[in-house]
Amino acid sequence: MNSLNPEAAQFLSAQPFKLFVGGRWVEALSGKTFETFDPGKGRVLANVSAGDSADVNAAVAAAQEASRKSGWATMPVNDRGVILHRLADLIIKHQETLAQIESLDVGKPRGQASAFDVPHAAQTFRYYADLAVHTRRREPIALSGLEARTLRVPYGVCGFIFPWNFPFLLVGWGVAPALAAGNTVVIKPAEDTPLSTLYFAKLAQEAGVPPGVVNVVTGFGETAGAALARHPELKRMSFTGSPEVGRLIAEACGRNLVPVKLELGGKGAAVIFDDVNVDAVADSLAAAVTLNAGQVCCTATRWLVHENIRDAFVKKAIATLGAMKIGYGANPETNIGPVVSEKQRARVLGYLDRGVKAGAKILLEGGRAEVKGHEGGYYVRPALLTGDSGNVCAREEIFGPVAYLMTFNDEDKVVELVNSSAYGLANSVWSNNLDRANRVAEKLVAGNSWINAHNLFAHGLPYGGCNLSGCGGGVLGPETLSDYLRNQTVARPLV
Ligand code: ADP
Repeated sequence: MNSLNPEAAQFLSAQPFKLFVGGRWVEALSGKTFETFDPGKGRVLANVSAGDSADVNAAVAAAQEASRKSGWATMPVNDRGVILHRLADLIIKHQETLAQIESLDVGKPRGQASAFDVPHAAQTFRYYADLAVHTRRREPIALSGLEARTLRVPYGVCGFIFPWNFPFLLVGWGVAPALAAGNTVVIKPAEDTPLSTLYFAKLAQEAGVPPGVVNVVTGFGETAGAALARHPELKRMSFTGSPEVGRLIAEACGRNLVPVKLELGGKGAAVIFDDVNVDAVADSLAAAVTLNAGQVCCTATRWLVHENIRDAFVKKAIATLGAMKIGYGANPETNIGPVVSEKQRARVLGYLDRGVKAGAKILLEGGRAEVKGHEGGYYVRPALLTGDSGNVCAREEIFGPVAYLMTFNDEDKVVELVNSSAYGLANSVWSNNLDRANRVAEKLVAGNSWINAHNLFAHGLPYGGCNLSGCGGGVLGPETLSDYLRNQTVARPLV
């Protein structure tokens, strides 16, 4: 049941894991490695090369060289599309292996990685490969006295720093549009979860992506990450992670005038009116707040429930959350896996503690969970709190399976409450009155307003944030491809 397939087992046996630079698997120049942990067991999982600034320099140089000489930037866009579709085919061919690696590394249920994370990432490559084929690279400009056109060309070397909650899916969201546009990339995965990104590099090589187009430098944020963010030869930078680190990245990029895309945290609200099927909505939100053990930046963590349905909603939500099976990611019965690290568990437990000390009431007690046979794992029980809107658990991103419930009876006031958040990533409105749902959805200040659903992702549906949740354009939409194409005009006077 918990065993790995031979392919995943073989991948994991070839340790220490190396960096992928210029199409070659290489040790960190310092020779140093670091350990990653299986969060479901709390035991060492892998030994990984600890890249630092010297390795980042080598990777950026390789990406620069590939940008100039590999032909990736200049090949006909449909040829690039063929390679990216081949890459998507390989991702699907190795879907189960990738899902097993991802589940082991992040702790998430294997079934979720297999049904969602991996195929969704494959589809992201297909979407941008096709979009690139149908995107005009040369646009004539009608002007009197001038022959003129706009060219849209790749920027060159793009840097990516990713977090640990959806490592593989986010590589797709981030890197696919950059590659489809003809750029080359240097990826720094999170130190907690580098494995699926290394497998991705292996598949990119197999698909025929030229050497140097995709580079992966594993290592820590303060060393490898910081070196990448401040590298003067980058043409674009993309960061997904916490607002605190996002600020550091933006500062470093600002010094070099490198455009930066930031996808940061959130404190999503769900506004639930009293005309809904209460049980169904309670189930949907219980599923949303426990997805990936709550480590989802856009998920619904503030539940704003109309006072008329409060008691029925709470009863159902508690029953559903309480019945969820907490367990090891590879166990097919698991609904909620561990959080990613001991540090993350301490963060979640710390918030519960601070929230209650500041006056929050417990509707469903969360806290540390023990899973038989996996005593060292970082498990957390889902929690439901209630209280005033100023509570730390109502304001700050916890990144764990914790929801905070508040009631309302007035549409304008609830909109104000949602918009009082410093974040602006995603909210949802739940009502059978679609006029009202649409009206409220448009008034919520965030990158995404969902109606009668939460956590909606589709290729072609732009996903991004505002305020503390990010800037610089989002992902998943057609505009993201444009973010990776530089405009250049060519003009000649007609004399
Ligand atoms: P978390 O605190 O939840 O791990 P972070 O925002 O710190 O989330 O991490 C997201 C990514 O940012 C990781 O890949 C991490 O290595 C990287 N990172 C952390 N600190 C820095 C830094 N100072 N400079 C660049 N990257 C960093």
